[in-house]
Amino acid sequence: MNYSSYEASLLSTPYSKQDAYRSLSIPVYNTAAFEFETAADMEAAFCGHNQEHVYSRITNPTVQYFEDRVKAITGAPEATALNSGMAAICNTILLLAYNGANIVTTRHLFGNTFSFLANTLKPYGVEVRFCDVTDVEDVNRNIDQNTCAVFLEIISNPQMEVADLKALSRITREKNVPLIADTTIIPFSVFRAADFGVNIEIVSSTKYVSGGATSLGGLIIDHDNFDWHHTPKLKDWAEQFGNAAFRVKLRKEIHRNLGAYMTPQTAYMQSLGLETLNLRYEKQSSSCCKLAAKLQELPQIESVNYPGLKDNPYYDISKEQFGLNPGAMLTFDMASKKESFDLIDRVKLIRRATNLFDNKSLIIHPATTIFGTFSPAQRDEMNISDKTIRLSVGLEEVEDLFEDIQQAIG
Ligand SMILES: *Cc1c(COP(=O)(O)O)cnc(C)c1O
Repeated sequence: MNYSSYEASLLSTPYSKQDAYRSLSIPVYNTAAFEFETAADMEAAFCGHNQEHVYSRITNPTVQYFEDRVKAITGAPEATALNSGMAAICNTILLLAYNGANIVTTRHLFGNTFSFLANTLKPYGVEVRFCDVTDVEDVNRNIDQNTCAVFLEIISNPQMEVADLKALSRITREKNVPLIADTTIIPFSVFRAADFGVNIEIVSSTKYVSGGATSLGGLIIDHDNFDWHHTPKLKDWAEQFGNAAFRVKLRKEIHRNLGAYMTPQTAYMQSLGLETLNLRYEKQSSSCCKLAAKLQELPQIESVNYPGLKDNPYYDISKEQFGLNPGAMLTFDMASKKESFDLIDRVKLIRRATNLFDNKSLIIHPATTIFGTFSPAQRDEMNISDKTIRLSVGLEEVEDLFEDIQQAIG
């Protein structure tokens, strides 16, 4: 059944098997292994002749239910739940990369993603090509026959850069390279990644999905819109499985070998988080947009960076892709690092913590925290200024948040 609302399709997602006690809420199947009647049944399950669960590193009914709900919302044929956003990124890249391959991306990335690509992968012979993903020609120039992926964030954290995904996907499709997007900053209930040509979508479900920052999690969503025949590591799989090559290899090999599957407790909490995702996002993103405009009026704030502001260089492309309220994260610059620190020290309602899209508003100084271990030269290259403050807007009223920042400026 196709419902018009996010909530109806989500809340009506059936369990793959009815619980013995007809529990209305999905039970948390807190078990490492599943038992069988006969050796033949075990053979059938282990060899994949049926869908029975065998071991919770591979599949688990509670986690599968969470994945089914994500599939119901996104319309994607496969969603795989991992135990963090970073695990989702590592699983995806390790599936595609090989000695001699290159990845075309940007320096404007989440800190650990940058470090994974630039440091962790390097000794394995994977080259990372940093370019300007807002310049389609620059991306085009950097792609060659060994490019295994183009990777970017839909709104980079914390630079707030927005690439034109449709334009990029025209290039990647032409060159037979998968377009992989980290969509954490806008929930998949609002941003329909496949409509903009994204092939593999990655989400840190720690953020909006978990709802109240209860748990870490990650998702790999396969939109079934890429022909893997030209992808070196998937050629043989594509012969056998067609467009499903990526997700079959992920399920049958990569995710079980890396051992970072989501736990049942987390899947339970994040399933609940999904139920209120849209409600929370509507309020948080509209508050963020209003607050961004109000902060522009304060003379002590040098500049406010939010793609929903009319004078933002990415306003038009952001509106086309994400609507009028593009997310619940903004950054603003004070006159100096000292003034940024002073403001952060004085806020009373807003909490000093990392993380994004908690129900509580969170404030952080990216240069000295998330990017604290990078050299000043690296920070410059990544456009991380020590005047910048990042704010994640929660469920509090805009007036209260604005007053808090005003009193903190003094
Ligand atoms: C937080 C975040 C990640 C990493 O997710 P974890 O769940 O913390 O591992 C990746 N990308 C973006 C854009 C993020 O904000």
